[in-house]
Amino acid sequence: MEIRIIKCLQDNYSYVIVDEVSKNACVIDPSEAKPIIDFIEKNKINLRFILNTHHHYDHVGGNQELKKRYNSKIVGFKGDKDRIPEIDILVSDNQIWKEESFEAKVYHIPGHTSGHIAFHFFNEKKIFTGDTLFSLGCGRIFEGTYKQMFDSLSKIKALPRETEIYCGHEYTLQNSNFCKLNDPENLKLKKKIIEIKEKLENGLPTIPTILNDELECNIFLRADDIKSFSKLRDLKDNF
Ligand code: ZN
Ligand code: FE
Repeated sequence: MEIRIIKCLQDNYSYVIVDEVSKNACVIDPSEAKPIIDFIEKNKINLRFILNTHHHYDHVGGNQELKKRYNSKIVGFKGDKDRIPEIDILVSDNQIWKEESFEAKVYHIPGHTSGHIAFHFFNEKKIFTGDTLFSLGCGRIFEGTYKQMFDSLSKIKALPRETEIYCGHEYTLQNSNFCKLNDPENLKLKKKIIEIKEKLENGLPTIPTILNDELECNIFLRADDIKSFSKLRDLKDNF
C-alpha cells in the first residue's frame, strides 16, 4: 500500500492510496478533480473509492467529476449524507470500513464540523485527519464546542505513538510560529521546526507527521484540560 500526496488548490493535500498489486486506489478528500485525474491517468490505476473526512468544498470538490469519470464509490459519515455530494457508502463512528484490500476504522471527531470523521488505516498505522488535527495545530471550531474538539483530539492522542498523520492542509509553518510563541522552551519543537523549514525549502510537504512528534510539539495536544485548550484555540483564532 503506497500513499501519494497530491497538492490541490492553494494549500490542500489530497492523498491517493494505491494497492500496488491490484492497481486499485482510494483518494482521500479530493479538493478538485484535475490533479487527481492527472495522477490516475499517468499511473494507470483504478480509482475505486473516494473517502471524505468532512463536507467542506475544499475536501469534496472533486467528488462529482471523479465519480462520473471512474464510477468510484463515495464513502462518508452517515450524519452528513445530505452534505457530502454523491455519497454512496455511509459509515459511522467506530465502524471498520473494508473493501478489497482497503481497511480502515472510522472515528467520528466533531468540532471543526459536526460530521467530521477520520479514517484510521490501522494495519498501515496511518490516519487521515482532515481539518481536525494538523501538524502543530488543530482545526478551527466551526460547528462544534471546545469540548467536542478536545475529545476528538483525545481519541487521536490515544493511538500508537508511531502512527503517521496525514492532514488536509499544509499549515505547518504558520502553526509552528504559534507553538513557538506559546511554548518557547520546548527543545523538541525547535528541532522539529528546523526539519520543517528544510523540507519546505526543498519543495517537500511537511506531511506526514508522526503522532509522537505531535504529542511532544503540538501545543493543542499538549494542553491537557479543556480550559487551557480553549484559551489556546481562542488565541490562535486571532493570531
Ligand atoms: Zn474544513
Ligand atoms: Fe479544509
